[in-house]
Amino acid sequence: MAVLEPHPARPPLTSDPVDLRVSALSRAAEALLRQVGAWSQIVARGACPYEQMMVWDAATLAGGPDTLLFDAAEVGEPNLGTIAENVSIAASTLRCAQQAGVTVYSSALQGLVLRPDVAEVMIEGRTLRTRLVVAADGAESPTRRFAGLSESIEDYPQQAVIAHLTTQLPHAGVARQRFLATGPLALLPLADGRVSLVWSTTPDEAVRLLACDDAAFSARVTEASAGVLGALTVSSPRAAWPLRRFNARCYQATRVVLVGDAAHLVHPLAGQGVNQGFLDARRLVAELGRALHAKEDIGDARCLGRYARARATENAVMGAALDGLYRLFTASDTWIGSARRTALGLIQQVAPIKGLLIKRALGLS
Ligand SMILES: Cc1cc2nc3c(=O)[nH]c(=O)nc-3n(C[C@H](O)[C@H](O)[C@H](O)COP(=O)(O)OP(=O)(O)OC[C@H]3O[C@@H](n4cnc5c(N)ncnc54)[C@H](O)[C@@H]3O)c2cc1C
Repeated sequence: MAVLEPHPARPPLTSDPVDLRVSALSRAAEALLRQVGAWSQIVARGACPYEQMMVWDAATLAGGPDTLLFDAAEVGEPNLGTIAENVSIAASTLRCAQQAGVTVYSSALQGLVLRPDVAEVMIEGRTLRTRLVVAADGAESPTRRFAGLSESIEDYPQQAVIAHLTTQLPHAGVARQRFLATGPLALLPLADGRVSLVWSTTPDEAVRLLACDDAAFSARVTEASAGVLGALTVSSPRAAWPLRRFNARCYQATRVVLVGDAAHLVHPLAGQGVNQGFLDARRLVAELGRALHAKEDIGDARCLGRYARARATENAVMGAALDGLYRLFTASDTWIGSARRTALGLIQQVAPIKGLLIKRALGLS
């Protein structure tokens, strides 16, 4: 078994600053990372579990009756998820793969020939022959293109601005998200006491937020977060990501299967992207295990089809739900604004619906 990774992540040193890219990992993702032995290294680096999540509309007060508060205790779980550095997740999973005997080539895929009996994978200076290629090479997936799998893409008129900030008030292990008319602003708790900002906003505002000086940026984020954590002060570089959504029309081709962002891309407003990818991996491993046990070919279309059908349906539902949330919260009509505030207040009061949503966010339903 082999992994191609042109940019293998280096395990971060204790002295390295917290990486700018972090992800909220669900309990299901945690379980998978524990199973492969990667979790302890991610935690040792200083991941931050969060016990509560607070969601509110900019037209209402944080903590008021229309604020949605998810609490892990309501569903008998120790936390709702963990904020971890992307680099730490990538480095620890790669190390576990190597320890399990997987060969890692620091090379990019350069070509792919797919035949009914074998796939030929071209990398610099050599060709690898395999029964199955798993495309986990991100939204731009060269593998998806080589395999001729098409996708439906939609650009959001938004960019996500990210940075880390120190806070005047303690974050207390709470992930916070305030929905502004231009998009959601999330403050995710970090293990070192700071918060990680993911602010989805208009491309023009993103440009202004990247161009202004630290003091102006800090003041702008403090104001946009309604001072929920007091004064915020930026303490990292800043970056912005254009946002879009897509779904591969089909997750499989001859001896190729898509997982993660190579198969689907969603708005980051609910922190589900990488978690969906981990659920893809879990399902694919189960199907391949079943095929191996039955002495079947793991690249066989029937085996891949079972995985592809199950995950494509699940991911399409999640993608549509997140897109619906995006539209609901950016709609400017007064009646929609009032409906969504009422909806947040109602969900907060109806325990079974809230419990269902929490389980769903944890990846446990
Ligand atoms: C601002 C922002 C915040 C987010 N927050 C969250 C969050 O809180 N929770 C969450 O679940 N998700 C979040 N996401 C989504 C998450 O980052 C992605 O879903 C996740 O990174 C996808 O992982 P992946 O491994 O599928 O793809 P990628 O992370 O894109 O990795 C692709 C890999 O393929 C390799 N590769 C590329 N080309 C080649 C080639 N030719 N040959 C070989 N290898 C190649 C790359 O080197 C890379 O290692 C967020 C996204 C954004 C933009």
